[in-house]
Amino acid sequence: MATDDLVPPLRAGVRLLPRTDAEGALLEDAILGRRIRLDGRGRDVALALDGPQPLAALAERLGGEPEPIAKAVAFFARLHLLDTDEARALAADAVALDEIERAAPASVPLLVREDARFTCTMCGSCCGGHNVGPVFEDILDGLAPHAADLEAATRTAKGLFFTMGAHPEAPDQAQVLCHQTRGSCIFLMDDRRCRIHADLGGDKKPRACRIFPYELVATPRGVAVTIQRECRGFLEARSGKRLVDDTAALREVIALAPRLSAVRRIISLAPGRPLSWDDYQALEDALHEAVDRRPDDACGALSAARDVLVAALGEDPGARPPRTDVPALSADLDALVAGLLERVEAMRGAVPPPSDEVWVRAEALDHLRDALTNLRADLPRAVAPLARPDQRELFAEHLHHGLMSKALAMAPTVLAGWARLSFGWLVTMTLAIHRARQVKRRHLVAQDVMDALVITSFLWRHDDIAERVLPAFDEALVDLFVLRWPALVAAARDLPDPDRRLELVKF
Ligand code: SF4
Repeated sequence: MATDDLVPPLRAGVRLLPRTDAEGALLEDAILGRRIRLDGRGRDVALALDGPQPLAALAERLGGEPEPIAKAVAFFARLHLLDTDEARALAADAVALDEIERAAPASVPLLVREDARFTCTMCGSCCGGHNVGPVFEDILDGLAPHAADLEAATRTAKGLFFTMGAHPEAPDQAQVLCHQTRGSCIFLMDDRRCRIHADLGGDKKPRACRIFPYELVATPRGVAVTIQRECRGFLEARSGKRLVDDTAALREVIALAPRLSAVRRIISLAPGRPLSWDDYQALEDALHEAVDRRPDDACGALSAARDVLVAALGEDPGARPPRTDVPALSADLDALVAGLLERVEAMRGAVPPPSDEVWVRAEALDHLRDALTNLRADLPRAVAPLARPDQRELFAEHLHHGLMSKALAMAPTVLAGWARLSFGWLVTMTLAIHRARQVKRRHLVAQDVMDALVITSFLWRHDDIAERVLPAFDEALVDLFVLRWPALVAAARDLPDPDRRLELVKF
């Protein structure tokens, strides 16, 4: 920064908190919702940022050399605390997001893809594989008069609900969940209907059941509505009702949500590369288009979309990054998988064995371990074009809903979000291949892919994976599944170790 460069003042909404001390101060950014601790120099600079001024004048006011003051100013600029066009645009997006989060469900703008469709097939799958809940107080109160009947009808020996996560110091974090038995919700009947719904009406069900499979995400321009891929009906959803024709029902679903998920207040393409919402949306639109350009080839679509991102990054998509030879790719993929497996094994090891009192189920972790273990060996098949139209459609729909659910705007960076999506697809395919092999089948049917997608979608959204595992691997994921993606795909056939074993089937 040159000494005659103009330093902007602090942006509107940024202020020093009154309590400052000799050590420093706290800067509050009410709009972007954060507090930043400053040292003594930072505090002095913040106090002096009361209007536009040349760097030299600011340094003179503070009685210091321009260079350290310029560093402090750069720190403020990096955090979008100065009154620049870029910081104002980000703050305007954050204000708009606040308004959407507070808006009445009846009038909030809905963001729905024109061709997104869904009709529940009543397959009953969403009532299994997890504990249904949370069940809120008002729902429990509504069911209380019917508890004896429900207990008798379900023939439960363990009651209807249980409480998880109760802690004497944080009782408000406790959650009431529905009991399940042998993998399914206690209320799921043999005819696939919900007993609460059938006997007492849909409005008596836990809100989570009434919201599923819709995914609702607040953005600065409205609430994005998509279908979660944990819904096995996603496969048949193409022939369902168009979401845009069902907005009244969608608004009812939004009204049921205790709190909406939201995109990040500052969306970054990569670390230090913030995007305004409009720029993010334009990028997402280009990614949708890229996916549609290659309807015949999942991997080709991922490559086309990846090129859009790399171009946005300002890099030549054709330029070869380092370490693109087979041994380097193989070693780096193995290191990534080993790191992930270590975390998966630790989580699995923490699950207590079944006892007479409790059976903690963790099969999804076993599936993830199987998929990761087979990833490199099955990579040639995982990246090969999908054989059947229903599989290709499933892939394209998954990608469109993933993008539309703002997965990239909720990830630490857009690139990390895309890396998680691409990696997740390869893990999905590897799991589908593994599961088909287990039942002595080589070629996949769409249901294999859907079943695997249910597992990976569940895991990728699980707090323990999304918040505690993936962030530690985002850099490696971006490196392999964005920057070195073309090399990885090109080398896929050479990455598996040569298979020289005699393979003998005895049973
Ligand atoms: S998994 Fe989806 S299609 Fe099946 S019952 Fe649940 S919401 Fe309906």
